[in-house]
Amino acid sequence: MSRRIQSIRGMHDILPPDSGVLRNLEQTLQAVLQQFGYQEIRLPVLEHTELFHRSLGEVTDIVEKEMYTFEDRNGDNLTLRPEGTASCVRAGLQQGLLYGQAARLWYGGPFFRHERPQKGRYRQFHQIGAETFGLTGPDIDAELIIMCQHMWQALAILPRVSLEINSLGTVQARQRYRVALIDYLQQYEDALNDSEKQRLHVNPMRILDSKNPELADIIGDAPSLIKYLDPESAEHFEGLKALLDAAGIEYRINPHLVRGLDYYSKTVFEWVVPELETQATICAGGRYDGLVEQLGGKPYPAAGFAMGLERIMALLEKTRFSDMEIDAYLVVVGEQAVEAGMEIANQLRNQASSLSVVVNCGGGSIKTQMKRADKSNAKLAIILAEDELRDDTVGIKYLRDKREQETIPRINLMSYLNEYLGT
Ligand code: ATP
Ligand code: MG
Repeated sequence: MSRRIQSIRGMHDILPPDSGVLRNLEQTLQAVLQQFGYQEIRLPVLEHTELFHRSLGEVTDIVEKEMYTFEDRNGDNLTLRPEGTASCVRAGLQQGLLYGQAARLWYGGPFFRHERPQKGRYRQFHQIGAETFGLTGPDIDAELIIMCQHMWQALAILPRVSLEINSLGTVQARQRYRVALIDYLQQYEDALNDSEKQRLHVNPMRILDSKNPELADIIGDAPSLIKYLDPESAEHFEGLKALLDAAGIEYRINPHLVRGLDYYSKTVFEWVVPELETQATICAGGRYDGLVEQLGGKPYPAAGFAMGLERIMALLEKTRFSDMEIDAYLVVVGEQAVEAGMEIANQLRNQASSLSVVVNCGGGSIKTQMKRADKSNAKLAIILAEDELRDDTVGIKYLRDKREQETIPRINLMSYLNEYLGT
């Protein structure tokens, strides 16, 4: 036998029932996006590497060490997308979706980062993100947050999720803050690791984003960016808080929330689930008014968020969210019964599109087939053997209820199922 080939570390096959949970999760989120008037944009998984260098910033975890970058056969330098915002802005510019109009878009699918795989952190993972363009006020920031809250509600995880917000101000405000932050952090230079030491002068705000537990206290006492805000950003932040208060959304102001990417300005927010520990952030976003210009367009305001589906899946009740259950398993004993069974199953599927019916394949005695029916997680077994064929009836066995087996006329089967399954 030849050696078996394994999947790439950190890139997982998603099997049932998890695949069903993921699909239901995506559908639930998409339904909320639809309710808020967001439209889907499908983006390629590969982009020119330069797109991410220019948008995320050179001194970021993603660009420094997490990207899957390679040369293709033409020698073009390409990268598997580590996030969606840069692609969305690129597409907005390229396809003429911006300027003179407000756009509300969403995207989803797999993303790729070369990180150390662990629970809640994978090399291929899934996100759904929303991006809005052309709106400058705090109202759209609030809308994005309110939409997330609707999503948590729809997923029944709202009580476990909490919201943190901050404002990063303008580039100028951050430059003033930077000086104060370097001054402060220099006192603790010994506690910093090598890469943090390097960042101290290049991009000190990145240190606030560190997951190094030894830095927690130092970060906790660091100067607050909020004190350095320019008046316009401060007013914007007050506006956002007022809208969240009016919507009854609870939040905590986290003055050290900076987000790992360079493109943010003014509002940033994260939804966190403390029980997930270092992988606690399930959704993160904010305003990035400078990014469109950074990617070659005329300045255009923008705000959005992205959520990590694997981390949200870890919070969901699998039984409620998996769609493993099928409605009926058709037990067909004898060659003639197979033919009739396939026909019955098709009639049922044609009559009720939500009905799932599995027809036994591969023969077997009634006993074997009943075992398979049970294993299939079906609610009912529909039995078709010699007697039933002769009498134009079917047997009904309840696989999840304590109820006597019954025989009913075949012609009544559909209405019978409708009643029993509530379809
Ligand atoms: P973290 O701080 O946990 O590394 P991040 O700031 O790098 O997250 P973002 O770039 O903001 O993450 O991505 C948005 C969301 O995508 C995260 O909040 C998280 O839920 C999810 N996510 C990010 N990286 C991964 C990963 N490697 N595996 C699974 N989910 C991820
Ligand atoms: Mg990260």
